[in-house]
Amino acid sequence: MEPARNKTRKLMVGNLAIGGGSPVSVQTMTKTDTRNVKDTIDQIRKLEEAGAELIRLAVKDEDAAKALVQIRAATKLPMVADIHLDYKLALAALESKIDGLRINPGNIGARWKVEEVVRACKERKIPIRIGVNSGSLEKDLLQKYQGATAQAMVESAIRHAQILEEMDFFDIKISLKASDVLRTVEAYSLAAQSIPQYPLHLGVTEAGSILAGSIKSSLGIGILLERGIGDTIRVSLTGDPVEEVRVGFAILRNLGLRSGGLDIVSCPNCGRLEGEIASLVNDIEKEFASYKNTVRIAVMGCSVNGPGESREADIGVIAAGGDTMLFYESGKFVKKINRDEIISEIRLALERISSR
Ligand code: SF4
Repeated sequence: MEPARNKTRKLMVGNLAIGGGSPVSVQTMTKTDTRNVKDTIDQIRKLEEAGAELIRLAVKDEDAAKALVQIRAATKLPMVADIHLDYKLALAALESKIDGLRINPGNIGARWKVEEVVRACKERKIPIRIGVNSGSLEKDLLQKYQGATAQAMVESAIRHAQILEEMDFFDIKISLKASDVLRTVEAYSLAAQSIPQYPLHLGVTEAGSILAGSIKSSLGIGILLERGIGDTIRVSLTGDPVEEVRVGFAILRNLGLRSGGLDIVSCPNCGRLEGEIASLVNDIEKEFASYKNTVRIAVMGCSVNGPGESREADIGVIAAGGDTMLFYESGKFVKKINRDEIISEIRLALERISSR
């Protein structure tokens, strides 16, 4: 059953609705140098293909802010400029027609600087994410709470939300990222109680490698979503951002918050294995990664659980000794095929399934 969602204010980042019962969206960040327009656009195309719904770009200097103009022209995806340290870069990014701004309250500086950015966003109806990171909290909060606790993070967010509120600005999203799961969960849970009106952007920051980061993110983001907390998610991984998008959607699908795409059911293998399937699972996953319709493919190592899983899947393949595989479609056994025919047979079956 799909977890019930907390009711937050709805805001628009370009044409993407966030909060207020909108579907939880998957976003990521480009990892190219934003000043390198060509590489950045190429990466955005790959992320679009993978299904990313919002792209954030690091703006580290004036040239990066200016590059956003050309990048903006090349994609329809909502674009958020990520600003640290220098409020002038936020103002420059707004000139480049971005759809949202992320500022880090811990390092943007004096209140008047924040106010200037808010005024410019208000004029253009651009939402702001207040992105609190445990690694860059204000000094007085670190002293007050004796470290970067969940309470300190939430107080930092509230403090900055108040500056915006005092200027009648409410198109606010909040993130409270720590690099460990439990503190992240505590901080977001606390924010959901103390500032329940604002949409929350969920993420575990600096989560690690593809494997370690996927585990941390799935736990942190998954626990919160299951409690109804969170409106948009970003999985942070050290690696290709396309993986961040894939993991993001996998989290949402497994919680019943999104449908669409491949659901591969594969057995863990054991001594009964009738043919190697580990590389086959990887090949299928890679080959059909951008498939948009909801489809379940079972890839099983023998006939102990193979027929049962294949009957419940749209497509099933079961190792049957050597290079022979049993091929199932729509829950029924169809034929024996050779292992190197699998990808093309699955492609044909997907075409049949999507034309029904
Ligand atoms: Fe082992 Fe067969 Fe089960 Fe796979 S399906 S784990 S090979 S018993």
